Amino acid sequence: MIKAIYGTKDILPEDILKWTHLENLVRNVMGSFNYKEIRTPVFEETRLFARGIGEATDIVSKEMYTFNDRSDNSVTLKPEMTAAVVRSFIEHKMDKKQMLNKMFYISPMFRQERPQAGRLRQFHQFGAEALGSDSPQLDAEMIIMPYDIITSLGLKNIVVKINSLGVPESRENYKNVLKDYLAPHLNDLSEESRKRFETNILRIFDSKAENDQKIMEDAPLLIEHLDNASLEHFEGVKRTLLEAGIPFEIDPKLVRGLDYYTHTTFEIVSGSVGSQSALCGGGRYNLLVEQLGGKPAPGIGFAAGIERILLACENEESLKLPDDSLDLFVVDINRDNAELVSKLSLFFRRKGLTVEHDYAARSVKAQMREANRSNAKFTIMVGGDELERNEIVLKTMETGDQKSFNIDNLQSVFETMRG
Ligand code: AMP
Repeated sequence: MIKAIYGTKDILPEDILKWTHLENLVRNVMGSFNYKEIRTPVFEETRLFARGIGEATDIVSKEMYTFNDRSDNSVTLKPEMTAAVVRSFIEHKMDKKQMLNKMFYISPMFRQERPQAGRLRQFHQFGAEALGSDSPQLDAEMIIMPYDIITSLGLKNIVVKINSLGVPESRENYKNVLKDYLAPHLNDLSEESRKRFETNILRIFDSKAENDQKIMEDAPLLIEHLDNASLEHFEGVKRTLLEAGIPFEIDPKLVRGLDYYTHTTFEIVSGSVGSQSALCGGGRYNLLVEQLGGKPAPGIGFAAGIERILLACENEESLKLPDDSLDLFVVDINRDNAELVSKLSLFFRRKGLTVEHDYAARSVKAQMREANRSNAKFTIMVGGDELERNEIVLKTMETGDQKSFNIDNLQSVFETMRG
């Protein structure tokens, strides 16, 4: 039997309502902040991600789906969206059309990680990128939008964490301070952290190794080594969040994996989904556009994992889904009026109702069972003596009320159903 690839999942019709509910919410919230949707290809040149995310990151060094196509070009399934959006921003000279470009996306992503609850190899993110402004209000907006979406889904067990990574100059100084602190402990660090000491020293804060964490407890913090301009920017972000009623914690150890962040970084974590607890993460990346060959432009973005958010919703039983039950089931009483039933159904379907009927000449009992199972609000009975009189019977399922209508007067049947 051929099965779905390890780490990928079908989203089945029985689950789709959760997805479309979330996607509609994303479109509404992002729309209200005037973000416009962008869709980029599923695959890109490998060097875009190598350059845009950074060779030393986990994503680039061990998680990408990279392969040579038939023309021997190295391509990669997108592991995240920021590099792709920035590529598009530069390629289409978006900065010439507008000073500030605000974009959002909903898209599958691909990373060859070890699958577990809330971690897949094809997963889905929604997110946003804003290119062209350094305003701290935008940093706050990038936290407010996912926060509003996540709380609108009823999730309560969440924490917003923020930090500032400042600008490269102060960060370079700080990296030296951290190096000095860690040098005497080097032999006690895990192999992974010893590697990071050379390649990406800030990421040692992310280490899960117990001994590493102990050593990092007393490490000097970047936030204590920020320059004044960075501190001021960070204060602006915090004030805007407070004003918006967003509770947050400052987490000076929140460095995140990617090389291109400057200033604000943030995460929204859930206490309801186990070890893979980050629902959303993001930050400011004022250097990325230039790094990818564009004219320097500040940028900021976030990405949120849809599977993880839906998992949290399930665990907190927080989702209130819209009603997708049938409006109408058309019953073929004599089981010989398939064409008439189909024609009647079409009339109401074209009026926008959700209508179903039987396609297999099943018994009336089976048809009624189906109507009940699908929670139909109304049934129309077609057949019997009524049909001989050119009538059909409309039944309101909740009350059991029945009413006959002339078959040529479907408009008044529709109006009765609409109430
Ligand atoms: P990142 O791009 O790594 O900052 O991830 C942003 C969000 O995407 C995370 O907070 C998760 O919710 C989600 N995410 C990242 N990797 C995965 C994965 N392998 N499976 C499912 N969700 C993921």
